[in-house]
Amino acid sequence: MKQTQLTLDEVLDHLKNRPATTSTYRVAEGVIDALPLTELPHMRVMDEAETQELADYLGTPASSLKGTLKVFDTQCSYCGRRVTFLDFAKSAVDLGRHSKDGLRDVLTGRNGAWLTIRGRDGGRPVNCAQCGSDVPRDVKMNGSYSEYSSGSYAYA
Ligand SMILES: [Zn+2]
Repeated sequence: MKQTQLTLDEVLDHLKNRPATTSTYRVAEGVIDALPLTELPHMRVMDEAETQELADYLGTPASSLKGTLKVFDTQCSYCGRRVTFLDFAKSAVDLGRHSKDGLRDVLTGRNGAWLTIRGRDGGRPVNCAQCGSDVPRDVKMNGSYSEYSSGSYAYA
C-alpha cells in the first residue's frame, strides 16, 4: 500500500493512463464517492449474509463495515459460489498483498480511504473463497470497471 495520498484528479489521470503495475493507493476524502464506479450494471449490492461472512472473516461486527458493499456480479464456474467482497479480500490476504488486520482497518474506515488501481499488468487474481479455484478472467469486463467497492475501499 502506498501512503502518498492521491487527489481525485490524480486518480482520474491514473485511470486514463494506467500505471504498469496494479497498486493500492491512499486517496483523499470523497474520492471514492466521486468515482463513476458503483452505478455500473455489473455491480450488485451484497446481501446481509454475505456481509456477515466478510465481517466474520475480518473479525469485526458487520455494522462496523463502512458504506454500501458492492461487488462485481459473477459466480465461480467450478462450484457456483456467487463471488463477494470476501473472495477478493481473502485472495489478497492469501497472496500476501494485504494483511487481514490491515484490510479490517481499511474496510471499517479506521484507516482512511484506499483505492486499488488496475495497472497494465491486468489487475489482480481472485480465487473462489469456497473451492479455491481461479475465477476466470474472461468473466471480467474490459475498460474502466470496478470489481468491488465500499465506503472506504474500492477497485478501479
Ligand atoms: Zn468455487
